[in-house]
Amino acid sequence: MDVKAMEASMINDNPVLLPLNKEKTIYGGFITVQERDFRVRITLPPDRKITGGRLHCCWQLKHLLRGYEQTVKQRLQQSDNLVTFILELKTILEVGLKSFPEHQSIPPPQYYSQLISEMETLGWSKLLFIDTAFQTLQLNAEDSSGRQHLLTVKLKPKHPAEAPDCSADLPLPLLINWTPQTTLDQLYGQFLLVLESLTRFWDVLDEIDRNTWILEPEKPCRSDTMRRIAIGNNVSIKVEVDPRHPEMLPDCCLLGAEHVVTPLRNKLNTNMHLWNPESDVLHNLQDVLEIEFPSPASHEKSSFSTECGICYSYRLEDSIPDQVCNDPRCGQPFHQACLYEWLRGLPSSRQSFSVIFGDCPYCSKPITVKMAPQKS
Ligand SMILES: [Zn+2]
Ligand SMILES: [Zn+2]
Repeated sequence: MDVKAMEASMINDNPVLLPLNKEKTIYGGFITVQERDFRVRITLPPDRKITGGRLHCCWQLKHLLRGYEQTVKQRLQQSDNLVTFILELKTILEVGLKSFPEHQSIPPPQYYSQLISEMETLGWSKLLFIDTAFQTLQLNAEDSSGRQHLLTVKLKPKHPAEAPDCSADLPLPLLINWTPQTTLDQLYGQFLLVLESLTRFWDVLDEIDRNTWILEPEKPCRSDTMRRIAIGNNVSIKVEVDPRHPEMLPDCCLLGAEHVVTPLRNKLNTNMHLWNPESDVLHNLQDVLEIEFPSPASHEKSSFSTECGICYSYRLEDSIPDQVCNDPRCGQPFHQACLYEWLRGLPSSRQSFSVIFGDCPYCSKPITVKMAPQKS
């Protein structure tokens, strides 16, 4: 097909590409795919043979054609004329758009007006952040104890027909009741109720955090239910508070040398009946264990965070030294992984299943360690 015939057919069948220069080596226009227009330009060599043509496109189109570059190049070289090439490009794009759900799912105009009216009802002051697509919102909320919380709402393009994805820093899954009539204001109201149901839990944990030395987690989040509280040098208690029943006796695990831990464990067992759900966890723990937790007011944290006797650091990835030599005069702490590697390398050590029996690197008294859990 010569260029004249090609132009004619293009103008008749698909008048989107028009020559942009006198030499007719540059064609430009739009290609419409799924009701979206994309700007394209095709440059031809001076002989105007399509086999030497090049396709230039906008970034959106480039993005959609990612992975199809070779196919496009091939089709351009093998097409008889620009019209057939453009039709083929259209087919490729239609396939490409199907595999890019986010391009299919651009919300209709009423989505934005709906969003604005819902935000007006809720109050713009609650909006901390909105992304450029107007689909992800961050709302701030304060519970009755004055704690600040963040609710992230990812609206679906079919909002409000489809429920949004909601997330927040909570110890329990955030369950939202959503119907196509639910508004952001009502969603926010449900979130406030969830926060209220957890205030007792956070009161309990805040009290512990304020008055004791927390060894783990390093920086507790609102979703963290576990605290490892320092009791003394290399002795600590790990408590797991139930967010639904924060006043009940939590799951407890004492960590440290046997001669210190055993009497504490016995107290815990014999005094369990003293647990008073009317009081708070911190005071209950002190009453049951018959101890006072060292408090930030009277102690330095460094007195509890003794570094590992093998690697000389405190934190090793996520773990802290929680294996302690049971000899009362030694009591040296080690990371589980460090002690395991150390003992495994010594001919005097003996292994039985996942436990290694060896000698403490500090005092040479017997020490055992379980194989560190494999990092996934
Ligand atoms: Zn170590
Ligand atoms: Zn030792």
